[in-house]
Formats: sequence, C-alpha cells, structure tokens
Amino acid sequence: METLEFQAEARQLLQLMIHSIYSNKDIFLRELISNASDALDKLRLAVLRDGVEGDLSDLRIEIEVDPAARTLTVRDNGIGMTRDEVVELIGTIARSGTAELIKKLADAKGDAELIGQFGVGFYSTFMVADTVTLVTRKAGTEGHGTRWESAGEGTYTIDDAPDAPVGTTVTVRLRPKDEEDALFDYAAEPKVREIVKRYSDFIAFPIRMGDETLNSMKALWARPRSEVSDDEYHQFYKHISHDWADPLEIVNLKAEGTFEYEALLFIPSTAPFDLFHRDSARGLQLYVKRVFIMDDSRELLPEYLRFVKGVVDAADLSLNVSREILQQDRQIQLIRRRLVKKVLSTIKDLQQNQPEKYATFWREFGRALKEGLLNDTDNQKAILDVASFASTAGPEPTTLADYVGRMKEGQDAVYYLTGDSRAQVENSPHMEAFRAQGYEVLILTDPVDEIWVDAVPDHDGRKLQSIARGSVDLPTPDAEQEPEGDFAPLLGFLKETLQEQVKEVRLTHRLTTSPACLVGDADDLPPALEKMYRAMGQ
Ligand code: ADP
Ligand code: MG
Repeated sequence: METLEFQAEARQLLQLMIHSIYSNKDIFLRELISNASDALDKLRLAVLRDGVEGDLSDLRIEIEVDPAARTLTVRDNGIGMTRDEVVELIGTIARSGTAELIKKLADAKGDAELIGQFGVGFYSTFMVADTVTLVTRKAGTEGHGTRWESAGEGTYTIDDAPDAPVGTTVTVRLRPKDEEDALFDYAAEPKVREIVKRYSDFIAFPIRMGDETLNSMKALWARPRSEVSDDEYHQFYKHISHDWADPLEIVNLKAEGTFEYEALLFIPSTAPFDLFHRDSARGLQLYVKRVFIMDDSRELLPEYLRFVKGVVDAADLSLNVSREILQQDRQIQLIRRRLVKKVLSTIKDLQQNQPEKYATFWREFGRALKEGLLNDTDNQKAILDVASFASTAGPEPTTLADYVGRMKEGQDAVYYLTGDSRAQVENSPHMEAFRAQGYEVLILTDPVDEIWVDAVPDHDGRKLQSIARGSVDLPTPDAEQEPEGDFAPLLGFLKETLQEQVKEVRLTHRLTTSPACLVGDADDLPPALEKMYRAMGQ
C-alpha cells in the first residue's frame, strides 16, 4: 500500500468541501451517479467502436445503504480506471485556472455559486464523508484492480485490489450523525430514493437499489417539451454541464426528414470562470440514436457560442464517427447552422419578451457573442440585432435599433469610441464636441470591440463611425468657420516641432474645452491594437 499526496489545488478544494457551508449536500449523490453513468457510456462506446472486450448485457448502477455502518455505496459496471488513471483523475485537478479560482473560493468562504461553477464532482462526497473508498478495475485490461481511500485531508492511500470486478465502486462512510444538525440521513433508503428521483431520473441506465429500479431512464431530449417539467430539465442540465445553478434558458429542436436529429440546449445563467481560457471545456454532447458518442463536440457550435451546453442526438451518423470526420461531415454542418440560428433567435426572443433575462444573458455572455461579429459573417446582422452597448445616453446598455431611433436630424452614422473603461472614454477630448452638441456616442470597452468594429462596416445601411479616427463630419454648429489664415503660423510651428510624432496638425471643431487632441487616420490601427502590437514588439 502506498500513501500519496493530493496535488496542491486538489488539497485546497477538498478543504473547501470538508468545511463547506454549501447547504444542499444531497448533490454529492448526483455527482457519483453522474460519474457512474459517464463510465457506462464510455464502456458501451469502447466495446461498440473500439472492440474492447466487455459485457454490455446489463449495464447498471447499484446503490446500497447500510444504516448501521452508516455507509452508502454506488457501484457501476462501466469502463473503470487503471491505477495511473486513479492517481491522475482523482488525485489531481487538471483544469487550467484552478489555482486562481480556488483563491477566489477561499476568499468567498466557499461561496456556493462559485463552487457550483467549477463543478467539483467527485470531491463533493467530502461534504458528507468521513472517508471515501473507491475500488475499480478497467475494462479490457489484465491484472488486478485498484483500491483508493482517503479522508480528504491531504493524502490518500492506493493499493492493489485483486478481486475487483470491472467497473467502479465508491463507498462513502458518512460522518457521525450528531456532528451536524443539517446532515440528512443518506444511509436511509427513502432519502436515497428521493434524491435519485429528483436529480437523476433521466439517467439512461437503471439505477437499482435491491430489486427496485429508482429512475425512469427516459432520454429527456426525446420527450415533448410539454411533458417535461422545468425541474427535470434543470437537473438534466446540471448533469451534463457540471453547473450547480439552474440554466437561464432551455432550447429544444427536432428535425425530421432527410437528416433526423434532436437537440436540447441550455444557456447557463452565469459564465464559467474559464470562458476566456483557451483550453476550457466547450462543445455539446453528441449521441447517435441514444448512444453517447462524445463530450465536448466543438463542431456542433461555433466558438463564440461556446457557453451553450447541451445534447445533440443524430439518427444517421455512424457510431464510429471521429472528430476529424465531424469537421467535414455535411450533416453536422447543417445541424450546426440550424443550432446557431436557433440560439440567436432564442436570444432575440429573450430580448423582446424577457428583458431581465436578456440583461443577465448579455452581462454574462455578450463579450463572447461579439466574437461572432468577426467570425460568423452569415449571422453578423442577427448578432448585431441582439447586441447591446454602453452609451452616453444613460447608464443602461442600448441596442443599435434604439440608438438609431434617437439619432439627431442629419446624423447619418452611429458614433462610437473605444477605450479601456467607461470613465476613460467619457473623459476623452474626442467626446467634447459630441457631448456639447448632444450626439449620442456608444462606449465600447471590451477588448474584442476594437476588432469587430472594423469587421462591421455598417448596420442597416448606417456606418459605424469611430469619433477618434479620420475627420468626423459633425455638422458645424453656429460658430463661424475659423479661417486657418490666423492660425497658420501656430500650425506651422506645431507641425515643425512635432514632426517626428505626428503626420499633420489641423484646426478642429471637435473640441470645446480641451486645446488639442490626437486623432488617428481613418485607416490607422485603433489605439488599443496599436498598443497591443507594440507590446508584442511589432
Ligand atoms: P468530472 O465528472 O466533471 O470529470 P469528477 O470529479 O466527477 O469530474 O470525476 C473526475 C474523473 O474521475 C472523471 O472525469 C472520470 O474520468 C473519473 N471517474 C470518476 N468516477 C468514475 C467512475 N465511476 N468510473 C470511471 N471513472 C470515474
Ligand atoms: Mg463527475
């Protein structure tokens, strides 16, 4: 037997779990069942597709409770793990950004919502456990199984398990009953029955306790929406997304005819902490006629919709389909196009009919969605329609349509100014004349704003015009056009003195109080990009 240490991040996360104030401890069982279900999916695929030797005749999840010993056991006959996999998958956390997140969590004293976003999975057992024992054997391998055990405090032991059957058994020894008032009796059958029904009813494999099957096993995406309760959808969402919060919106889709498929998508209510990390988990789950094929199928949605979670079940794909094939598959491309349209129209619907939900959506995911303005020219207009922007008109973001509705007589462009923050943009000298004359200006402060504005020349025939570039044709107010003559000596002097720094010095009507400002040429790089390129040494 060997004693090993948890990786630092894993140790910290476990501490948070052990001392968790998260009130809903029931969900540890959901997490164990979810892992068991994943393991059964993986075994089925390994046997059907990769020719791994394995028995698919009675895939199941079994739960056993022992009230006297205060133990709860969840057993599956799925794919199992090798010894190395146990060390790697259970002893460490590989997700990037984990260290930062744990720091935030510790500061927030185990804030439930943050933990939920992270999806602690297996470790959630330590909310209720004294010790957790996991015995496993990988399908299709020779030799013995592995026994892992830990009290969650820094170390775990690992040992051979000669007689372990294929699959995984997790035994949770519950903390003493009187330790915490709120601790429910997870070693009691009625409690287990209730939790399984509530959280795991849709799991596609039987969950048995003794002779009784506890779940209905109906694939949620195949059922008509009217027959499924919101709560059922929410639990399913939590199963596939590892989020602990309810989703913001549910999107169903069913296509019949040449290509048959069903899709059940969810827009989460909060952005995951790693939405802007390059290697964050993204993509949908792909099924073929109810058989799970793969997680994180990125081909089904474009990058800018990476926050959408869900399942696509296609009837006519081969079980052998690989990521490479998916990238070229015509059917997948059609499905993808349809999903994008459906998600965008759902957002539009929120915008028109549920302004509060829309505001949440935009706050959490607007920044990601705007990437689509660059990458998805087909849907550029649809994205612009559902986008909102901060504006000098007021504290609330505005849509372009509303902006246009407020445009002044004679104004033919949508004005914007980019910058690092609202305050910086509002205090820019470029803003002076526009403010003085009552022109509304959009305030664009996301890094992606610098880039998409150049990819979108106009919206409904109206130019998007930066007020920091070129000469903006503001209709001149009553003030007399000042004859350059009087200023010629000054302009000449400035031009000469600044010749290394500027191309030109000219009179302007843009300013009301500042004496001078810098403007870029119409075809110059936006300042932020210029800064970025300079920083990269170009
Ligand atoms: P997640 O399920 O989000 O990946 P978990 O913490 O729940 O995270 O589980 C970590 C990993 O441990 C899983 O991805 C899986 O590879 C492995 N694992 C957990 N439980 C099982 C199981 N019952 N059978 C096989 N592998 C498992
Ligand atoms: Mg899990």
